[in-house]
This record gives sequence, structure tokens and C-alpha cells, in this order.
Amino acid sequence: MECKGCKLHETRTQIVMPRGSQNPKVVFIGEAPGKNEDIQGKPFVGRAGKLLDEWIKYLGLTEDEYAITNVVWCRPPENRFPEEDEVLACQKNVLEYLMHVKPAFVATLGKLATGFMLSTKIRSMTSHAGEILVIDKFFKLCPLFHPAYFLRNHGDWKPMLENLKKELKK
Ligand code: URA
Repeated sequence: MECKGCKLHETRTQIVMPRGSQNPKVVFIGEAPGKNEDIQGKPFVGRAGKLLDEWIKYLGLTEDEYAITNVVWCRPPENRFPEEDEVLACQKNVLEYLMHVKPAFVATLGKLATGFMLSTKIRSMTSHAGEILVIDKFFKLCPLFHPAYFLRNHGDWKPMLENLKKELKK
């Protein structure tokens, strides 16, 4: 894929395309690629990715049941927060991808991805994290804290995943 839809194409090593199943039950959406992702061309391959892998294992998802992507597909320089024009430019890529793979659940990781899917700005994740929201007839939305939040706070992430875990067993 070639994309010069925003200024991030000038500084990226490569576009970080979604990884995982072509027919996922759950798509996890993070923020933007970091340094490791930019080099390897795959989302969530660094420390946050290791924790996300643990969550996926805890949820009981097998390789063919999930996929991972980001709101923004190219690394922002110095890992700065993605800017509004970059999010807007990448929106088409993300939505086309979701329409293509048609997951039953979209699990958003953190404020940017959650706000992106809800078309609003999110000030705090506390009141949303772990809920199952029906906002669309195609998939259920499960907003989660970003794994980086738990890397910083060393909290217990299991309670946050219980609703999704139950839903996946249905
Ligand atoms: N790696 C990603 O691909 N996305 C994030 O949001 C964080 C780390």
C-alpha cells in the first residue's frame, strides 16, 4: 500500500498495516505506531504489545480470532500524539479495513481510538473502560484503557476484561 495522505509519510519508515486474522472476531485498535512498529512494519510489537498479547491470551482468543491495528498507520515523529489532520487522513484506511474484515467486536485501546469510534473527544476512560457498547449494527464496541496505561500504573487489568471475556463466550 502507498499512502501520502498526511505529512507522516515524510518521516515514516513504512506504513504499519493491520496484523492478524483476515476474519477476526475482535479487532483491537491502538493509537499509532511507535519506533519498533515503524521498523518492523507491524502494530504492537513493543512493550505495550507484549501486554496486549497477555490480554488476548486471557480473553481466550486464538490466532485466527483477532487482529490488531491503529487509528493512525504511520509513526508520528518522536512518538508525539497524532494530530487531528493525521487522524482524519487515516480515517478512510481504518474504516475501509473494518468494513472489509467485519469483526463482531471492536476493542479500542485508550482515548484516541475510543473517541475515534464514538466520533467524539474522550476526556477520561474511567467511566467507559470494559463496557460493551452497541453503537453500530455491525459490531459491538468495547473501550479499554491502553496497555501503556497499565505499564505506567501496574494496576490489575483483569477486571476490565471480564465483560468482553463473557461476551466472547456467548
Ligand atoms: N504500538 C502500537 O502499534 N500502537 C500503540 O498505540 C502503541 C504501541
